[in-house]
Amino acid sequence: MRQKIVAGNWKMNNDLEAGKKLALEVLEKATGEEKAQIVLGTPYIHLTTVATSVAGKKGIQIAAQNCSDKASGAYTGEISASMIKSTGANYVILGHSERREYFYESAALLASKVDIALSNDLIPIFCCGEPLEIREAGTMYDYVKQQLTESLFHLSADDFAKITIAYEPIWAIGTGKTASSEQAQEMHAELRAHLASKFGKAAAEACPILYGGSCKPDNAQELFSQPDVDGGLIGGASLKADDFLAIVNAF
Ligand code: 13P
Repeated sequence: MRQKIVAGNWKMNNDLEAGKKLALEVLEKATGEEKAQIVLGTPYIHLTTVATSVAGKKGIQIAAQNCSDKASGAYTGEISASMIKSTGANYVILGHSERREYFYESAALLASKVDIALSNDLIPIFCCGEPLEIREAGTMYDYVKQQLTESLFHLSADDFAKITIAYEPIWAIGTGKTASSEQAQEMHAELRAHLASKFGKAAAEACPILYGGSCKPDNAQELFSQPDVDGGLIGGASLKADDFLAIVNAF
């Protein structure tokens, strides 16, 4: 059975104190018996403190929200995959639509980031998703499949086995307008079939595909009940421990 994952993406929220407080609250309230792997996707400044706090706590992992495509050197302001790994984080969110849009991250750049993350033993949570005009034009399946083709299809089967995917329709992010469970299921099934065409059925069946975009305590259960929805990537609702854990416990 595929691993279930609920990952919080704090985005650019919470200073050091607020982040510590939120992480500790999640830690205190999580029982360790959750059915889904919990991942806290924090800003860089929190990685070390949060990773230290959760060390040894069953079922909780830490993610960065980005990494450099370069290994090291004169790249002022950048953070490398090996630095992230050294904090105790095990995941990195890559290709979020906000990074694609506001920081001009291309498919080729993301392919490089996926490679460097994998070579530093970080699990990429690779984000994909279509804007509203593509959904309205009805070409969303081709659009999102192409995002996977361009940034993941160069991987070996062994490397692909380490990937987690997050489908996040851009029109659902931060809008309160979630995809229906049918829309999420249809896209996830399409993406899984696309992955199977390249990496084989067994590999595609083993790949967790998370849904993101206005996922909340009141819609998580319906979304997660779909056969190809293996969890969520949670923005706004991950900033409140109770809401986040309610989503984790929707499994
Ligand atoms: P919201 O849950 O706030 O819609 O954000 C989703 C998201 O972008 C997670 O990466």
